[in-house]
Amino acid sequence: MLDIKFYPREQLKAKPTDESKLGFGKIFTDYMFLMNYEAGRGWFDPRIVPYGPLSLDPSCMVFHYAQEMFEGLKAYRTADGKIQLFRPQKNIERMNNTNRRMCIPEVDPDDALQAIKAIVECEKDWVPHSVGTSLYIRPFIIATDAQLGVHPSKTYLFAIILSPVGSYYAAGINPVKIFVETEYVRAVRGGTGFAKVGGNYAASLIGQAKAEKLGYAQVLWLDGIEHKYIDEVGAMNVFFVIDGEVITPALDEGNILPGVTRASCIELLRSWGYKVTERRLALSEVIEASKNGKLDEAFGTGTAAVISPIGELVDETDRIVLNGGEIGPIAQKLYDNLTGIQWGTVKDSLGWVEPVI
Ligand SMILES: *Cc1c(COP(=O)(O)O)cnc(C)c1O
Repeated sequence: MLDIKFYPREQLKAKPTDESKLGFGKIFTDYMFLMNYEAGRGWFDPRIVPYGPLSLDPSCMVFHYAQEMFEGLKAYRTADGKIQLFRPQKNIERMNNTNRRMCIPEVDPDDALQAIKAIVECEKDWVPHSVGTSLYIRPFIIATDAQLGVHPSKTYLFAIILSPVGSYYAAGINPVKIFVETEYVRAVRGGTGFAKVGGNYAASLIGQAKAEKLGYAQVLWLDGIEHKYIDEVGAMNVFFVIDGEVITPALDEGNILPGVTRASCIELLRSWGYKVTERRLALSEVIEASKNGKLDEAFGTGTAAVISPIGELVDETDRIVLNGGEIGPIAQKLYDNLTGIQWGTVKDSLGWVEPVI
């Protein structure tokens, strides 16, 4: 159990009045959670303090060698006024997997859950009310040793910040156009693809910028060795439905981020009797299936958008239109059920929801 100290601010901020204009990650709440780490002492001084700038030495290791990690999950307000989280234990388990890869000390899972619940409860009035809106939760850890030698830091800061976010699909779900990236890669075997770290994102910006310049919404990343197998789409996991079989890249190569949404889709689909296979999937197999009329649909999965249908997939030689550019039946069913469980309108028969208040 953490003994979390509370430091009130003098004046609270004005809350957003128009929830249709929230967007994503632009507004932050009144408070944040902080906790420090020192080698030999462990994590200490858990506290909720006014949200505001951090004071860090310019030589802090995180600025130079990117020793850091982050997580992302949401708190949802239900129709009867409760506030709940969706499988936060999965995020915490993933946080510690990332920490081990990044030589960052692990956080006790019970303490992490207590910290998330405490800051969300403290900021419960910031959880928006409109359909499809939520409070985005961003836990992160940075290396704070003020020195430039390259080795794991001996001190760290764990923070949790909160941002009310809008409905991702305010104008309805529109399948997106995807550019197949054959030059840059996102992850390689032995690298950090399975870890949620800023470095992966920094390295992917150029691919995303290139795709946007060419008029596409996202990048389809291929494997880092042969540039042949499907990896992820943008910062989402990806599923293809070929001849009724649901296929998603397997996690065993260590280059795929193990999404909580991904795992939940697999479990839901299997509970409904679909055949779901986690395996390597070559881009050529997808193109072949499309040519034979066997490519039923494809979609990305992640906490932000939940399900993002792929309408069109384009590489140097082929242009594939999926399901007539419309959302497919499996994507729609997953979206309806996942969002239903998250906002409390569909029975949580798998025990995925974690109440805050
Ligand atoms: C966070 C993330 C995902 C999605 O994970 P969820 O837990 O479903 O939100 C997928 N790919 C990458 C690269 C990510 O960082």
